[in-house]
Amino acid sequence: MATKFIFVTGGVLSSLGKGLASASIGCLLESRGFKVTILKCDPYINVDPGTMNPFQHGEVFVTDDGAETDLDLGHYERFIDHVLTRANNVTTGQIYHSVITKERRGDYLGATVQVIPHITDEIKRAIHRVAADVDVVIVEVGGTVGDIESLPFLEAIRQFRGDVGRENVLYIHLTLVPYLASAGELKSKPTQHSVKELLQIGIQPDILLCRTDRLLPKELKAKIALFCNVSEKAVITAKDVGSIYEVPLVLRSEGLDAIIVQMLGMPQTEADLSAWEAIVRKEKESTASVTIAVVGKYLELKDSYKSLTEAIIHGGIANDCQVHIKAVDGEAVARDGPKEHLRDVAGILVPGGFGSRGVEGKIAAIAFAREERIPFFGICLGMQCAVVEFARHVCGLQGANSREFDLNSPHPVVDLMSEQRGITSLGGTMRLGAYPCRIVVPSVAYQAYGTTEISERHRHRYEVNNDYRDILERHGMRLCGFSPDDMLVEMIEIPDHPWFVGGQFHPEFKSRPKRPHPLFREFIKASLVRQESRV
Ligand code: GLN
Repeated sequence: MATKFIFVTGGVLSSLGKGLASASIGCLLESRGFKVTILKCDPYINVDPGTMNPFQHGEVFVTDDGAETDLDLGHYERFIDHVLTRANNVTTGQIYHSVITKERRGDYLGATVQVIPHITDEIKRAIHRVAADVDVVIVEVGGTVGDIESLPFLEAIRQFRGDVGRENVLYIHLTLVPYLASAGELKSKPTQHSVKELLQIGIQPDILLCRTDRLLPKELKAKIALFCNVSEKAVITAKDVGSIYEVPLVLRSEGLDAIIVQMLGMPQTEADLSAWEAIVRKEKESTASVTIAVVGKYLELKDSYKSLTEAIIHGGIANDCQVHIKAVDGEAVARDGPKEHLRDVAGILVPGGFGSRGVEGKIAAIAFAREERIPFFGICLGMQCAVVEFARHVCGLQGANSREFDLNSPHPVVDLMSEQRGITSLGGTMRLGAYPCRIVVPSVAYQAYGTTEISERHRHRYEVNNDYRDILERHGMRLCGFSPDDMLVEMIEIPDHPWFVGGQFHPEFKSRPKRPHPLFREFIKASLVRQESRV
């Protein structure tokens, strides 16, 4: 079978869930036995989202090969079993960067370099780059149809059908069918306009995914089909659901995967979604529940800590329990004291972060977790804060801090890595991507992983200062994970505590609903024990 290309565009407004729709299509095709990859095209001019504010743009997802990417890649990796690379996210910034580099090198000798064909060719090359060894490439075009920025991408995907053949390309358009309470009706006009917008640039969608809060009645589907020139079967209701892991199931019940394979002339294999059904069942039907505090900087957790909140949910799935995440603002903890905000939680997690805002509150929260014997999980900055807390309050090192927050600290227990000194440019210069780590036996970490060799993804500049290894260990902190050359402390724990673990990496990036990450699984398990011992 020739490689098939599915292009997913979005209309009407942003935030309709194009990323999840693309991931779900990938999941459905994979459940039919096809090998799938997904590419995200981002129309912004940043080379990557590494320097963008997570509050505005959501979390920065990190791949094994060290790319800082759009958070949709996190959805893709959670929904399909394919490890993605830096090639799976391309931005306008990257496209222009490579075209301009070629122009300076003289590659276009004599030619006037233009959006069409030079930019569009570069975009098509990026699509072909991910197509090796897979049956299906799904390409999600970011932004909303009608935006100026996304035009070159849309033009490139329009040309693509001519390049690789009609039978190998499918255009899927996600639109909104709002329910207007005053009229008591579902409205199809925004969809019609959005399709018209696409037609103007030469793309006739084959399938419409209609985001809505209720099932579209048959007559409305017929009307949309007629006005938008698609077959009735290709008008799919994408109804709101309680859990994102339900999206593939809902789309399958609408026949989406069946019509995709039919339209693309792919073999009609059987789909097996039993693992997904089990996940959704556990998420919905578990009667146990536990409350975990995430002490961070962004109270609106939804997108800023996307992979983290998903990994916590996976930890719940592994323990057959629902997890309520209580977002706690580090600054509020510093102001009101930890008891005020953390009295009622069964576990405390301090996630990664940058900058000093809320750090003293995070440290106070960690002190509370340590003293009150509440399960604690520190991730990246969270682990660094745990080391600072321990240094100050257990080792008696007054003024201990991370050099990131106090350049003049008498005890910089967390310091800049030597490779990081002298780096002034911000884009892509951190310690990024997967690194191996050796786990010490015995340790809580080893109990969780069940192996001494792990690989986890990083995104940071600072590290535990090796000059303080001895004093930390002498006072009862176990340094339980190291880089293979022993130069970097990658994990810490406090053995004399129900569950107190920190990692310099971001385990949340590797957690999958089907394979919950061991540290999240064990953290939630310990929190459940804590909760049950209280009642
Ligand atoms: N700001 C810290 C560092 O750069 C932690 C980064 C993080 O938590 N991802 O080392």
